[in-house]
Amino acid sequence: MSAAFQGAEYCWMNGEVIETEKALVSAMEPIFLGIFEGIKAYVEGDILKEGPLNIFQWKPHIDRLWHSANVHGIRIPYSKDELLEATKATIKENGFKSNVYIQPRIWPKGGSGPSRYQPEDFHVVIPTWTFDTLLGKGNPRLSTERRFMVSSWRRIASDALPPQAKCWANYANSGLATREAYRLGYDGAIFLDFRGFVSEGVGACLAVVRDGKVITPPVTASILESVTRNSFLEFIPDDLGIPVEVKDITRVELYSSDEAFLHGTGGEVTPITSVDDIRIGDDYPGPVTREIAEYYSEILAGNVEKRKTWLTPV
Ligand code: PMP
Repeated sequence: MSAAFQGAEYCWMNGEVIETEKALVSAMEPIFLGIFEGIKAYVEGDILKEGPLNIFQWKPHIDRLWHSANVHGIRIPYSKDELLEATKATIKENGFKSNVYIQPRIWPKGGSGPSRYQPEDFHVVIPTWTFDTLLGKGNPRLSTERRFMVSSWRRIASDALPPQAKCWANYANSGLATREAYRLGYDGAIFLDFRGFVSEGVGACLAVVRDGKVITPPVTASILESVTRNSFLEFIPDDLGIPVEVKDITRVELYSSDEAFLHGTGGEVTPITSVDDIRIGDDYPGPVTREIAEYYSEILAGNVEKRKTWLTPV
């Protein structure tokens, strides 16, 4: 977690809310397999203030956790409703009044081995963090300049380690790209997929704006089926009247975009100043990126009536 994230005093572990420092596991446990979700809850009314919280897109996040579990032979010993109640209980025990990042994690305790795991063989832990948002009207953090490079590492392919299942192992690939970018003096990396088309960022999906249209790569470009991306594909055309297209993007199309931004739960909307030192567009952040980020903040705050169904009160 970056410095902007602050770990919470209490977490939920295997059925109860406990002090985070007492959430201990054995050093003998296998550490090769684990799945997780990254979810956020935002303050109602104004996400830059304090107040009651709503979880954004609980259902698609928890459904994706179940899909990740199925792919990797993990059997979750709780129901989706039980994990929602667990998440609410954790947030309440911590007394949070500002935006919260929630990361349900599931991994084997050990014992019988991957093909024979029983539901009771898994830990389910829900740690939480408060964080500084990039979003919100007038928030200067959105406008920080960010230089990216196209990584020399390709994004993992679906027929090797499926990026659509949110498994920790996928992030070893992300770590290679991030370390390369930092070593070379950039703020972050952008992956190409195994075919050479633009895939995604590190822990976030990518979109470009070209001639007034928002374009984002398809799921077949080795991306995670992002909850943020799916929400954007719905509200950008329907609510803002900006056309969107899902299609493969070449490296040159990325370079010659009017605007480019990453989007995902963790990094929210992260505008891209340049790629491989080629400046993207004239304004930073570009007007379309800014409009999307500001409208998204209003959705998260529960100020957009038709999108309130995306929010679950804590
Ligand atoms: N790609 C990867 C690899 C990610 O880890 C994330 C963050 N979960 C995303 C994309 C964005 O997905 P979401 O909008 O569901 O957070």
